[in-house]
Amino acid sequence: MSEVRVEFWGTRGSIPSPGPKTLRYGGNTSCVCIRWGDQVYICDAGTGIRPLGFHLANSGAPTSGHVFIGHTHWDHIQGFPFFFPAYLPQNKWAIHSAKGVGDSFEAIFRRQMGINYFPVEVGDMAATLDFSQVDGRPFNAGPGKVSTIYTNHPGICVGYRFDMDGRSVVYLTDHETHWTHMGRSEYSERLDREVADFCRGADLLICDSQYTDAEYEKKRGWGHSRWRDTVALALDAEVKRLSLFHHDPERSDDMIDAITAEASDLVGKSAKSLLVASAREGENIIL
Ligand SMILES: [Zn+2]
Ligand SMILES: [Zn+2]
Repeated sequence: MSEVRVEFWGTRGSIPSPGPKTLRYGGNTSCVCIRWGDQVYICDAGTGIRPLGFHLANSGAPTSGHVFIGHTHWDHIQGFPFFFPAYLPQNKWAIHSAKGVGDSFEAIFRRQMGINYFPVEVGDMAATLDFSQVDGRPFNAGPGKVSTIYTNHPGICVGYRFDMDGRSVVYLTDHETHWTHMGRSEYSERLDREVADFCRGADLLICDSQYTDAEYEKKRGWGHSRWRDTVALALDAEVKRLSLFHHDPERSDDMIDAITAEASDLVGKSAKSLLVASAREGENIIL
């Protein structure tokens, strides 16, 4: 059974955040690469996809595969124009996402490289790019099974679950816990339960954890979760490992360390075994 390797190339949300305070957890926006045998699954094309692209091209690894975009907010697509493997004619990339508001995913994705935004258009990229819209039904990416769920985020956004020969990874970012957003009700609890069921038993959950409690009070409805609710989700869904993800651009390395320690305490008080850490750019997790 070939190993599943999860590589973090960008762990930040909202906007790239380089500087001395973000050196350890990184400043690039969302990009995670899952390598499984000869399969390459890339989750989001934030600025982290740029170094990933060079790495793939230089390491002799296959530079074809699948790109799964949660949604087309800037922090999740802005690295794609700099994704070197998309410029090589021998490569083929399947690019998946949900239909956007009022426009197809492909139209929105192409627009970010329109003449007023970027000097090179998607059509000038030499690789074969196949766009496909997810529709809620599971589908296959090579031998892997991919499931999707709509997240609670302004506009349209999906989370992905990858089931790979007995191993599973859930990539669920840009998601706000339903009950904190709309109050406790049968409805919000049902929606949160659906999210937990989607994550159920995963080997790794990579999940939106953008806010502290105090920040959340000012940013309710912005489409992101408090880290403590993400820990609660992971415990509820009985996942094995949790990577807190989509760090706020204002979050320094030291603050992330403090959150990770608090999150570990929270897990320690539960009767469950969950490995919790904050996703760090450059980190690899082997499943
Ligand atoms: Zn985001
Ligand atoms: Zn977003």
